[in-house]
Amino acid sequence: MTVTTRFAPSPTGKLHVGNIRTALHNWMWAKKQGGRFLLRIDDTDEARSEERFVESIRADLGWLGMSPDGEQRQSGHFDRYERVFEQLRSAGRIYPCYETPQELDLKRKVLLGRGLPPIYDRAALKLSEADRRKLASDGKRPHWRFRLDHDTPIEWSDRIRGDQHFDPALLSDPVIRREDESWLYLLPSVIDDIDMGVTDVVRGEDHVSNTAVQIQMFEALDAAPPAFAHEALLTGVEGKLSKRLGSLGAEHFREEGIEPQALIALLARIGTSDPVEPVADPAPLIERFDFAHFGRAPARFDEEELRMLNAKIVHLLDFDRVAARLPDGMTAEAWDAVRPNLMRVEDADIWWRVIEGPVDTGHDPADRDFLAQAAELAANIDWSGDPWHTLTGALKQTTGRKGRALFLPLRKVLTGHDHGPDMAALLPLIGRERTIARLQP
Ligand code: GLU
Repeated sequence: MTVTTRFAPSPTGKLHVGNIRTALHNWMWAKKQGGRFLLRIDDTDEARSEERFVESIRADLGWLGMSPDGEQRQSGHFDRYERVFEQLRSAGRIYPCYETPQELDLKRKVLLGRGLPPIYDRAALKLSEADRRKLASDGKRPHWRFRLDHDTPIEWSDRIRGDQHFDPALLSDPVIRREDESWLYLLPSVIDDIDMGVTDVVRGEDHVSNTAVQIQMFEALDAAPPAFAHEALLTGVEGKLSKRLGSLGAEHFREEGIEPQALIALLARIGTSDPVEPVADPAPLIERFDFAHFGRAPARFDEEELRMLNAKIVHLLDFDRVAARLPDGMTAEAWDAVRPNLMRVEDADIWWRVIEGPVDTGHDPADRDFLAQAAELAANIDWSGDPWHTLTGALKQTTGRKGRALFLPLRKVLTGHDHGPDMAALLPLIGRERTIARLQP
């Protein structure tokens, strides 16, 4: 059976870093197994789903290089849900309930007050046909629950959490459909997972109790449940589930100059026993990906760590991978000269402007003679080899300067900055003419 995973976002907002991580793990697992990674748009909530979010989800996956092998939309499956609903209803696995939210809340409070778990009491199952007719004629519309089978224990071996056991009698029969006939997420997701041939579900551990009831839904539909992996959630540096994380999406990272490869390298490894490593290619990450390496403690997402990792990844990117984003005319040599110094690809602009000029050649008057000598030497040295070492070597001899006093005034007048890429790499790019002109007092 082809391993098939799915990423199933609801298009009610943009993806945030937590969603991206879930998508990534589904994608990596499918790639590792030579399987398929599907996108499923969970848009049963028609009021809250928006097309612009569907588009941004697709665009974000594209930017991350995780384009799905297929896409489905739940809003296209309503007929199918209806048929399954009727099937389960005839089989007595779905039943109508008429309690109001206030009544349910009261029931819960009473149970909790007695120190009992707040499990739905199935009062609606005791209604007679006549009771239901009466409620309907009073204009009451039901919501619908899935009847759990209390005699079949719920068990699965979670790829991350290990063996899981739930006593169905300790769970409430889940509501699967509202009064207005709209669907809650639980049943449509199971129907689609069956129809899409999903073999592996990777999602956050906030879904563990959903999985418990969904396993019985798979069984009620005579389908083998997929394998499940529930990962610990993401937290911010402060160790809490932060609001900020929920607002950090691909757009933010792009604006910050974060490469998709950096985000992938970080999200692939945090929360696992594998070290975070700067790799610009997902292949080695996929190769090593293993649910057995996932810990149970929350994964800590640190934006500063991401920035540092990003810099290391930028240093690894070949010219061809960034050329389209570099300023017009910037050459591979120039990229190679400046990249070891960059935090972000976009900062290559700064150094290309330094190479091309003009630069602010303001200098300390005390360096006037020194720079004049440098200009003269620059006009006479051999530029074909390593002009920076030739020039500074000669200047050291003639002026007696060394270290900072030798290098810094040159760097400043030649680049307009007091730090930056290796001058030996930069000087041949600045070239003889511009060097002489910049050195001239
Ligand atoms: N639409 C659901 C969510 O975003 C999908 C959960 C799942 O992966 O089954 O929470």
